[in-house]
Amino acid sequence: MPEPSHPDVENIVIIGTGCAGLTAAVYAARASLNPLILEGPLPGGQLTTTSEVENYPGFPEGVDGFQLMDNTRKQATKFGARFEQAFVASVDFSSTPRKLVLAERTILAKSVIIATGASPRMTGIPGEKELYGGKGVTTCATCDGAFYRNMDVAVIGGGDSAAEEALFLTRFASKVYFVHRRDTLRASRIMADRAMSHPKIQMVWNSIPVEVQGTDEGAVSGLKIRNVKTGSASVLPIRGLFVAIGHVPNTAPFASALDVDANGYFLPVNGSQVRTKIPGIYVAGDCADHVYRQAVTAAGMGCQAAIEAERWLAEHAG
Ligand code: NAP
Repeated sequence: MPEPSHPDVENIVIIGTGCAGLTAAVYAARASLNPLILEGPLPGGQLTTTSEVENYPGFPEGVDGFQLMDNTRKQATKFGARFEQAFVASVDFSSTPRKLVLAERTILAKSVIIATGASPRMTGIPGEKELYGGKGVTTCATCDGAFYRNMDVAVIGGGDSAAEEALFLTRFASKVYFVHRRDTLRASRIMADRAMSHPKIQMVWNSIPVEVQGTDEGAVSGLKIRNVKTGSASVLPIRGLFVAIGHVPNTAPFASALDVDANGYFLPVNGSQVRTKIPGIYVAGDCADHVYRQAVTAAGMGCQAAIEAERWLAEHAG
């Protein structure tokens, strides 16, 4: 472990600047804790990749995801939050103060909120990246499904997420192609049965995505697929593509110090959503939640974590 080059011990360090991290920052800063916020590779988090957020309470006309995060950042800054671009490579929570090891230095902290989010797993096929965001490729039916009213869309995946996305999309889309690479779904029986029996969902078995096709204007126009049994290729004429092949929680640097489940998500303790087994260390947002994964639930967890940290600091850290 390198010697810390920074002699000060932070009251509270918040790792991550998505909904959870920034909400924790607002609460911690407003509680005069002078928090340090570490901003990772995607400032503002997943919401910044969504053009319009229609289900965040308080915005009847919807709100641009980037704008919402920028506003929350400004709100935290107004109360004294300090931001630094940094990637935490590893941690040492075995002694106090806690240690966060960055490439250039080690940060010492009395308490830490980890809000590093989860990254949607992508297929990596041509066109996917180019047409991501407002152009037709997305990873969130709850966020973007309503933009595909009376259009044909496709979901790629075979697990509970894909089944859930496909079923949700039937509220808006005229038809939902459910593209899976095998001939049985990984999803739970009940979700699989619901999806397979829905009149608007057409199962496309044994098919791997090959390319997302777009119009000259840069909007999704089709998904090229290949049947792995026959080798034949075809194009599904769709306007929206929902990639639902799982998420990867960004917990690796912390996984040896804290409890994580089989998929890598943090496992909070003591009936709490945010407390961990290490006193003064909290988790919030998608890195600890594979069920709800909403901006507002992440914000709620960020709030909980900051209040927990504030109380813990008042009792234990002078
Ligand atoms: P998952 O269970 O890991 O399923 C991922 C699916 O994507 C699999 O069917 C997989 O195919 C397919 N896939 C992976 N990589 C692919 C690729 N490159 N190209 C095409 N297909 C690919 O992920 P998840 O559905 O997000 O679920 C994660 C966890 O959360 C699970 O434990 C799930 O039960 C849980 N969850 C629960 C609920 C609920 O209870 N309501 C909702 C959502 C998620 P193969 O099957 O061939 O491997």
